[in-house]
Amino acid sequence: MSKSLKNYINGQWVESKSNSMLDVINPSTGLSVGKVPSGCKADIVDAAESANQAWEGWRNTPATQRVQYLYKMKALLESHTDEIAAICTLECGKTYAESKAEMTRAVENIEVACGIPTLMQSVFSEDIATGVDEFVIRQPLGVGACISPFNFPIMIPFWFMPYAIACGNTYIVKPSEKVPMTMTRIFELFETLNLPKGVLNMVHGGRETVDAILEHPFIPAISFVGSTPVARHVYQTGTLNGKRVQAQGGAKNAVVVMPDAEPETTVKIIVDSAFGCAGQRCLAASVVITVGEAAEHITPKIIALALSKKTGDGMDSSADMGPVISAESKVRIEKLIQQGIDQGADLLLDGRAVKVSGHENGNFIGPTILGNVVEESEVYKTEIFGPVLSIINVKTLEEAIALINRNRYGNSACIFTRSGAAARKFRHNTMAGNIGVNIGVAAPMAFFPFSGWKESFFGDLHGQSSHAVEFYTQTKVVIERWNEEWSRKF
Ligand code: NAD
Repeated sequence: MSKSLKNYINGQWVESKSNSMLDVINPSTGLSVGKVPSGCKADIVDAAESANQAWEGWRNTPATQRVQYLYKMKALLESHTDEIAAICTLECGKTYAESKAEMTRAVENIEVACGIPTLMQSVFSEDIATGVDEFVIRQPLGVGACISPFNFPIMIPFWFMPYAIACGNTYIVKPSEKVPMTMTRIFELFETLNLPKGVLNMVHGGRETVDAILEHPFIPAISFVGSTPVARHVYQTGTLNGKRVQAQGGAKNAVVVMPDAEPETTVKIIVDSAFGCAGQRCLAASVVITVGEAAEHITPKIIALALSKKTGDGMDSSADMGPVISAESKVRIEKLIQQGIDQGADLLLDGRAVKVSGHENGNFIGPTILGNVVEESEVYKTEIFGPVLSIINVKTLEEAIALINRNRYGNSACIFTRSGAAARKFRHNTMAGNIGVNIGVAAPMAFFPFSGWKESFFGDLHGQSSHAVEFYTQTKVVIERWNEEWSRKF
């Protein structure tokens, strides 16, 4: 299978105007499974013009009618879950079960966005003075766009797009050029929704396409998810151009294990969190901070369970984790592991030599664990985004919280304990946007915002829930006087 992908603009499949194509690589085999346009400004100009033209009609379509398309969208995704999940695994490498779980998360966001007629309601004060009323109405902004990363090809555009269009905006989705086939298939299905032309568009490409979105005057609202350096660039450039931007960035998530933590549950959740999706989750546990004697009884159990995890092709139902996304990524991660060892960490489990039979060119790394990691080391400071878990031992909860708070990232932090007081102190004092208590991947449900602090997020309103509704609407404050005497004169 080798397919040249097209853009979806103004209700039609069109060739990109860029003259170069990139290979889409199956990370399990190293083989090309498709070709994607490298992208260009002209494609964004076409999509923005089409979306802008469609906006007038769409914003005047009642919200109750707009959400009817979302109900159909949900049914379409649910009835094609297996097929879409298989494409996701093919180009992204994660296991088939992980791809299916991602679909559930996407659908949950559509379900929440179906409540837009209620979610867009606002406040009304009668008689702020005699015969004068004041109220707020929420209106769409125009054309919105989302720029997504490789690690959740299905889910991430749904943190934004269903809310944006249900609120009356038109939209452009820019998938990651590393995993463009999944969203292409989803758009093929969406063609049958018969949305008005131009309401929903998809443009492929990389950096040039992103920069064109950041500059285009017809696109006032941009949602980004990806690495911190690019999130910063998108936020700075977009806002400089007068746009509202929400940019979710990288992470270095810590899990604190207290001496009283229930060992079996704690270890199982930590290992799933660190090595699920081959560690390529923005909520993956990448650092375990053991407090006091937790180090002695938790660390050997983590190693033993991690050792039992099978690395393999995502379509192999016996595999617990797939490959990392690219050959470059594998080299980068292996270099970081070596750097960690050179800077004094203990190599407790080495996944670098893992081999998957019949997949000699796949980007596989097995679960890797580094002990006695120090705060100053590169392996602690850098987001590894691979199946590598660092362990740091501290004496007190206060020390653990201070360590987390000094980290530049603030996406998520979790604690395992049987003490309500310890959990409360952690929740109150830890500087991270998503907090887990006896939870390994504190992924907010669609009816909560997906938070993030410090260099893990640039902006104020996050993806999902009421935050997405606020982000994709602007408020208009109206003050009205209706005088009975005027009416009597006519
Ligand atoms: P990335 O930053 O390389 O790419 C993200 C998007 O930006 C892609 O669509 C890509 O085409 C575009 N892009 C890449 N380089 C660019 C540049 N120089 N200028 C303009 N655009 C550019 O991220 P990735 O490797 O695809 O994804 C992994 C990253 O995403 C990790 O850092 C992970 O933590 C982060 N992530 C964060 C969250 C969150 O909610 N905070 C969720 C998922 C992933």
